Amino acid sequence: MLSRDYSFLDEEHTCPHCKTKLSCCEAPQFHVGDGLGWGSDVLFICLNDDCPLFVRGWEQIEVQYGHRSSYRYMQLPGSTESNVMMVGNEMAFKGSIIDPEVLRNQNARFLKEKEAITALDTCVEEKNLEPVLYLLCDEAADRDVRKRAMSMLLPIGDLACIDPIRNHTFRDSSFEQETNIIISQLLQKSFKKECPYCCEIIKAQATKCMHCKAEV
Ligand SMILES: [Zn+2]
Ligand SMILES: [Zn+2]
Repeated sequence: MLSRDYSFLDEEHTCPHCKTKLSCCEAPQFHVGDGLGWGSDVLFICLNDDCPLFVRGWEQIEVQYGHRSSYRYMQLPGSTESNVMMVGNEMAFKGSIIDPEVLRNQNARFLKEKEAITALDTCVEEKNLEPVLYLLCDEAADRDVRKRAMSMLLPIGDLACIDPIRNHTFRDSSFEQETNIIISQLLQKSFKKECPYCCEIIKAQATKCMHCKAEV
């Protein structure tokens, strides 16, 4: 949910009844078959308790339908068409107000991940570690995507991947184990090893670390 179109984040809607800026709220989840959905993940709703529409609604609905509800003014994203939502109490929708900043960040993350996944297709020929490391170290990314990123490490064969991987804490220890194996394969392939004392990469045949001067 909420991962497709975020253009509504820049929309401003105003209630014609009270001139209050409408709040962007998560739409209630209905089954499509119920015919109750608005066809949108978000709704712009006037949550002003002093809004004349809301204040008068209680009595109107009482008289018309004989139950305790009122109306909130509502517009759909991308539209200025007037709609009303029936609500049973003052609190309805107040818990589902969307923070645009949170969503913007989520969206930025989503787009960056998508971009990195696309870049995996060409990362080996371009010797581009960036999308590989981004995805591999992104704990929120899809597991299979991360595995795929990991499988690019050997073909790219760039020892620059070692530090960022070592500095990352994998929540799933199997990732750590597998990357450890790949790192030792990478080192072997380039006739290198890690100094057991300072962790700098040194020549496989070195007997003394050129960084910390320790005997290895
Ligand atoms: Zn209003
Ligand atoms: Zn050393």
